[in-house]
Amino acid sequence: DRIISANLMMEDQAVELSLRPRYLAEYIGQSQVKENLKVYIEAAKMRKEALDHVLLYGPPGLGKTTLSNIIANELGVNMRTTSGPAIERPGDLAALLTNLQEGDVLFIDEIHRLHRTVEEVLYPAMEDFALDIMIGKGPSARSVRLDLPPFTLVGATTRAGLLSSPLRDRFGVVSRLEFYTVDELAFIVSRAADILGVEMIGEASREIAMRSRGTPRIANRLLKRVRDFAQVRGDGMITYELAKHALELIAVDPMGLDQIDHKMLRTMITNFRGGPVGLDTIAATIGEESQTIEDVYEPYLMQIGFLQRTPRGRMVTPLAYKHLGLPVPGEKNE
Ligand code: ADP
Repeated sequence: DRIISANLMMEDQAVELSLRPRYLAEYIGQSQVKENLKVYIEAAKMRKEALDHVLLYGPPGLGKTTLSNIIANELGVNMRTTSGPAIERPGDLAALLTNLQEGDVLFIDEIHRLHRTVEEVLYPAMEDFALDIMIGKGPSARSVRLDLPPFTLVGATTRAGLLSSPLRDRFGVVSRLEFYTVDELAFIVSRAADILGVEMIGEASREIAMRSRGTPRIANRLLKRVRDFAQVRGDGMITYELAKHALELIAVDPMGLDQIDHKMLRTMITNFRGGPVGLDTIAATIGEESQTIEDVYEPYLMQIGFLQRTPRGRMVTPLAYKHLGLPVPGEKNE
């Protein structure tokens, strides 16, 4: 697995639990989303109603699961967690829904991957807090409506565009999470180091932040790796020099690109004159699935302006040429 993958890996799990902020005040960045949620949560509590259903979307590792947990904590209710592909049959969803307590949060990760038949059970549940159950078979079959306790559905997806519109329309709050700034990530890294009991000095947190692709999950993972180096090669303290050296050995460059990013960009440049190149061709050259490239790796490369999406395919930008130390086509070189 690539260290700069924003997807959750086995090694992240234990540490993420301890690093996960529990309340809005501890959740760094995403100020617009936070401000809005604060108001909606406050209002729901004042009215003693369930919070409107919330859809969170954005690349992996930006804090969607964390935010859902925070919503439940701020509301003072329990959260049940599941994911789109995990709910195989309508009955599975019905079981989850009937076990909720009033006001609870139901978190569905990868909600764009819900089966169509399951999704249809969700519509009346979200809209009327009701469950329509078919009793019997054949001509004598009839539908019975069961009441559910009012609840809040929090859905998470990497791309809101993949949701069917009837589902998307049933969310009262739709929020997009953005990549974090280097300052925000440096703060997240310092906080994580405190929690893990690691001493970190100077610009070390910034050095890690810069290479974290705007993503807290990657920042925490890099911190853990750097901590290993500090323990084995140093005296346990993370200095700027140690962090920089460790990150170079881990082979994540100052913009957070790994060897596979380099290979991808270079192949696009040498074999395809910088593009446009189709996504599937790119996927084949680096041995990743198109979907993974599109959801996990590409958003960051576009965010930093290294890659552009055109109707005919992806194109490498002059900024990327410069980063790789290659002459920009059509530009005079000194
Ligand atoms: P997602 O659900 O979007 O894939 P997560 O919510 O699992 O992402 O976040 C991954 C990890 O990143 C969390 O365990 C947490 O430690 C850290 N994290 C995410 N967002 C923040 C934030 N705003 N402030 C501090 N840490 C964060």
